Amino acid sequence: MVAPHSSVKPSSIIAYFSMEVGLSPEIPTYSGGLGMLAGDTLRAAADMNIPMVGITLLHRKGYFLQRLDAGGNQIEADARWVPEEMLQPLEPRVQVIVGGKTVSVRAWQYTIRGVKGHMVPVYLLDTNLPENDGYSRTLTDHLYGGDLRYRLCQEVILGLGGVAVLRAMGHNDVLAYHMNEGHSALLTLALLEEQSKANQDRNICDDDKEAVRRKCVFTTHTPVPAGHDVFSLELAREIVGGKRLDTLLCTECCLDQTLNMTNLALSLSRYINGVAMYHGEISRTMYPNYPINSITNGVHSATWTSKPFQDLYDRHMPEWRRDNLYLRYAVSVPLDEIRQAHAVAKKDMLDEIQRRTGIALDPSVMTIGFARRATAYKRADLLFSDMERLKNIVSRAGPLQVIFGGKAHPRDDGGKEIIKRVFESSGALKEVLPVVYLEEYDMGLGKILCSGVDLWLNTPQKPHEASGTSGMKAALNGVPSFSVPDGWWIEGHVEGITGWSIGDSWGLNSTSAGESESLYDKLEQVIIPMFYRQPGLFARVMRSAIGLNGSFFNAQRMVSQYLENAYLTG
Ligand SMILES: *Cc1c(COP(=O)(O)O)cnc(C)c1O
Repeated sequence: MVAPHSSVKPSSIIAYFSMEVGLSPEIPTYSGGLGMLAGDTLRAAADMNIPMVGITLLHRKGYFLQRLDAGGNQIEADARWVPEEMLQPLEPRVQVIVGGKTVSVRAWQYTIRGVKGHMVPVYLLDTNLPENDGYSRTLTDHLYGGDLRYRLCQEVILGLGGVAVLRAMGHNDVLAYHMNEGHSALLTLALLEEQSKANQDRNICDDDKEAVRRKCVFTTHTPVPAGHDVFSLELAREIVGGKRLDTLLCTECCLDQTLNMTNLALSLSRYINGVAMYHGEISRTMYPNYPINSITNGVHSATWTSKPFQDLYDRHMPEWRRDNLYLRYAVSVPLDEIRQAHAVAKKDMLDEIQRRTGIALDPSVMTIGFARRATAYKRADLLFSDMERLKNIVSRAGPLQVIFGGKAHPRDDGGKEIIKRVFESSGALKEVLPVVYLEEYDMGLGKILCSGVDLWLNTPQKPHEASGTSGMKAALNGVPSFSVPDGWWIEGHVEGITGWSIGDSWGLNSTSAGESESLYDKLEQVIIPMFYRQPGLFARVMRSAIGLNGSFFNAQRMVSQYLENAYLTG
């Protein structure tokens, strides 16, 4: 890979803002794919010697801990971790006005060390300080917890507090402010104020807006309007402040008498992108007035590759950690070695499942994995839409076992319903097909499942899956995907080569019934027969998943595209 980092002055940085970041399995500051992407971006930047700095909130109580009772009801508790044991405290305190009160903010640092030793610091903002009042002290506790007021207060801390912390840490020369989703869009307000102060303006003018626009990059992740952060102007006036809201009113963010974080970020960014080819297209139809590009997500390969596959790659293409493009040379790896590495990863996963649940699954049985946030559009229960058909398939084509994982947001009743339906189906299939739902799906379990199963199932309702990344993790471990063609799979899918598609068209006109039909047909006629009767052919698909998809859908390729298209074009 070229060395684009040489064109970024070391004194200037790229400031990467994200409400959630997946830093390590012990640090519960993420809820799902968005946070994983942020962590993988920062890890790749460290590997590539890019002067990037991450900014997020501390989330002292994490997202939440998930327990599931015998009926599949989700029980939630605060996640527990001790930031003081894992992070370095930073000296500076900055002040932010939130809801008319001055709130003091400090930051903790987590340092990511790249393959060549380059360090990327991540600042986690914390308001739990003795000088703050009770409510203000809780503002950096819960990721996606609380009501709209709490959320808006958090976004003030992230955006305005984040820029203030950057300045306090001496980062004045910023090549690009990258907003990973709209939660951090208030950083534009901090930049507008700096701009007008520098020009001794009374009011923000078009030149100020243009100057801010030239510094900002925005990645949108949500292909449906309901997913975007919107606050009433009354609430915004109260929390952000009247004068500041007036500043925002002169941008185009306050259409329909609301403060819309997506519109704010769109109108103040020089570069905007969706997270896969098709998601870019969908976003352009949602926001026809903005030039929206696509940069397809990728995952950090060393983080998501299991130990047996790391060893395999180290033997056959020792440069793969430094340069992920070498994964393309997987074509030279003997199929037997791929099979052996996978057998070890599968055994490690089954041992872990037995340790957690007491359930001993059979290593010789084809194992399907499905794990991701439990929410309606992901349709974890599509596999169970025709139970008789599923039973017939297993008796005719060969045995299956299925492993599930995933948390529902505490206020997502639809997501909770889905978990219960999987539990019910599991009970109904007891004698025929073991179905296990694992609690507490997180970064660590994600890696174990993506690398240990034989087939990674993904059944989103189009076009809700902006990208999806767990199938990319699976590909790095030689696990083929079986997925609805949405998000990244539209680009990653080559039928019978990198995996299989559920339904054939990526247009929006397919139905759930048609998709479950296709799911059953291909399982019965193509995938299960190949797994049991043509293992050599199946191993070829595993190998192509690595060579074709592992070599492209990684964070190194993604970050080099951000550099080329977004960061270095200011
Ligand atoms: C990778 C990952 C995700 C994203 O999975 P998708 O299938 O892309 O939704 C979510 N949660 C965890 C813990 C992950 O590791």
